[in-house]
Amino acid sequence: SPYVALSSSDSSGKVWELEGDDSISYFIKKKLRVWCRQPRGQWELGMIQSTSGEQAFVSLSNGNVMKVDRSEILPANPDVLEDVDDLIQLGYLNEPSVLHNLKSRYSQGMIYSKAGPILIALNPFKDLQMNGNDYVSARSQRTMNSPHVYAIADAAYNKMIRDEVNQSIIISGESGSGKTETAKIALQYLAALGGGGNCAIENEFLQINRILEAFGNAKTSRNNNSSRFGKLIEIHFGCTGKICGAKIQTCKHSRVVQLARDERSYHIFYQLCAGSSSDLKEKLNLRAVSEYKYLVQSDCMSVDGVDDAKNFDQLMEALDAVRICKEDQELIFKILAAILWLGNISFQVDKENHIEVVEDEAVTSAAQLMGCSSQDLMTALCTHNIQADEDTIAKNLTLSQAIERRDAIAKFIYASLFNWLLDQVNKSLEVGKKCTGKSISILDLYGFQTFQKNGFEQFYINYANERIQQHYNRHLFKLEQEDYELDGIDWTKVDFEDNQGCLDLFEKKPQGLLSLLDEESNLPNASDLTFANKLKHHLHPNPCFKGERGRAFRVRHYAGEVLYDTNGFLEKNRDTTSSDYCIQFLSSCNCELLQLFSKMFNQSQKQSVATKFKVQLFKLMHQLESTMPHFIRCIAPNTKQLPGIYDESLVLQQLRCCGVPEVVRLSRAGYSTRMTHQEFSRRYAFMLSETNVSNNPLSISVAALQKFNIPSEMYHVGYTKLYLRAGQIDVLENTRKQI
Ligand code: ATP
Ligand code: MG
Repeated sequence: SPYVALSSSDSSGKVWELEGDDSISYFIKKKLRVWCRQPRGQWELGMIQSTSGEQAFVSLSNGNVMKVDRSEILPANPDVLEDVDDLIQLGYLNEPSVLHNLKSRYSQGMIYSKAGPILIALNPFKDLQMNGNDYVSARSQRTMNSPHVYAIADAAYNKMIRDEVNQSIIISGESGSGKTETAKIALQYLAALGGGGNCAIENEFLQINRILEAFGNAKTSRNNNSSRFGKLIEIHFGCTGKICGAKIQTCKHSRVVQLARDERSYHIFYQLCAGSSSDLKEKLNLRAVSEYKYLVQSDCMSVDGVDDAKNFDQLMEALDAVRICKEDQELIFKILAAILWLGNISFQVDKENHIEVVEDEAVTSAAQLMGCSSQDLMTALCTHNIQADEDTIAKNLTLSQAIERRDAIAKFIYASLFNWLLDQVNKSLEVGKKCTGKSISILDLYGFQTFQKNGFEQFYINYANERIQQHYNRHLFKLEQEDYELDGIDWTKVDFEDNQGCLDLFEKKPQGLLSLLDEESNLPNASDLTFANKLKHHLHPNPCFKGERGRAFRVRHYAGEVLYDTNGFLEKNRDTTSSDYCIQFLSSCNCELLQLFSKMFNQSQKQSVATKFKVQLFKLMHQLESTMPHFIRCIAPNTKQLPGIYDESLVLQQLRCCGVPEVVRLSRAGYSTRMTHQEFSRRYAFMLSETNVSNNPLSISVAALQKFNIPSEMYHVGYTKLYLRAGQIDVLENTRKQI
């Protein structure tokens, strides 16, 4: 398989083979530990006692002796390498060793580990009390240096100040793995550091997150607080390192009208119903959650441990904090109530087979809240105006068209409301004039997804992840290796999966997945099946693509093959919400915000969903391009959202999805520290005795390395820089401190 598997070879090229009896007998003689695969697939520690042909007898730690195939045995790391901070320190990098290390750390509350340059964060699903002011100062003063989000944020901050280069913290992972919480922790640290002892900024970020989460997050089966949008927070700093503003960009998908089992719509709807005052309830003609069709369909109205009413109070405080006035707040709530009532509007078919709106409380309430007459709303929902020469003719819609239109209006209003709120938030964060232009961006984007059946959402989410992966490859592999070559280092390239091929499969014009999707979405008689056939016709042969029977196709992503079902692709891609009638209708409503929404809409929004998404994604990536990235990979140890459960196969699958094994391999094979000879000699020359100090930085470097007995395989002297393997700089630093 071309895909990542934690290999059992170690970086120095020594492959553990267990083929010749030599190596096995060595393990037997030295009583070394091995991993032994159990019938159900999990790995147990044991010791080989003897071998016979292709079989080995292994005594397990529980005292049992097992007879296993040699291929079921892998070397284990010695005791001294238990619980290492960084996976690159492991002697053997096989799957069970990596999993064991992470699991053992996790069980002791050490949720963070490094994999070379990447921070791995396992979701604890409980508060471990590892964050807060005391920890911020311990971290910034470096009295604590175990892996932590704070350490990453600290490194980013210092690099930004020192090198005057924009930084980014790229957080990825599956739903429920802890990205949003991790982003908040990073943000909190930067706010504390850049706030200059003033908690106002920290508090403002907290309030803003509250708003974004109320309007952009929802309960799903995997996460009670799942972000339904990706976001990039860009924090700007002034020359003294103080925060001088911020900007938030998003990349979203929508969920107002359709919910799956166990899911809720956006938190805000439940908060509003539960928490609004009786006065407000009366103004909005607001009912209980259970009376709204958009909310009851999934049969999930409350979430354990979540107090919607209390959250509503906090939300109102947050709206005050970003200076949204009370009048506007009331308009926001009106619009939300209008959306809920829209969902309750139903249709009937009259004798002449014409469809009409059932004239009930739903339509009158929705119309009243939106500021139009019930008649106008009913006409907007049931008819379609066709321009014929000079005249406009009103044509009746079919039942399904009318339902689609009702839902489209609801979605459009909600999406506009979210954008408008984001504008308000950004205004309150406005980047001041004193900024130096240096920034740290934090990206919280949904990670790669694969289910048994994958649809349109997975399709573009996984596409986005290919883009991020490309960015990651560029920084961790390509640029690193180019650097070595330029500096004259003989370097056997570590193979990595370049995903350019897969990106081309998506992006090539006119015959990439996205273009073909748009093309098919515009054809009147197209269907999901004709789309699938078109893909097979145009994309074959392509190593990253495989047509399947019927409507299905496969893509070979960097993280594995994914089977997509084109069911619903065309409909979801055509964005019916932004049709002209919707804009026109809203502009006729007597509600300031709705009118504003109709004006906010511009032609560029009239693109297909896939194209819009690509544009948003490119904007984000473009911004990240010029930054120095720091990667955090979040991992969900179980899907139950419970503490203390570590599902090995789930963890392994996520590690593979982000190429952790390759990164570890590369970092170990490579030189993680690089310093120019000038930098190095300035820092360490004083440790040399007078006699062997020359003026030439390169000679000083070499002399220092020799003096401190750094083994020759642990460093490489380049033309301009000195390259050190992981861990070596710590040796030098410790010596330096002792002098
Ligand atoms: P999605 O992609 O669905 O938005 P996510 O990766 O953003 O998921 P989070 O919302 O950050 O996931 O985390 C899910 C839940 O896990 C949180 O609501 C919280 O209960 C718990 N959690 C995550 N990180 C931490 C942490 N560092 N400490 C304690 N609990 C955490
Ligand atoms: Mg999230």
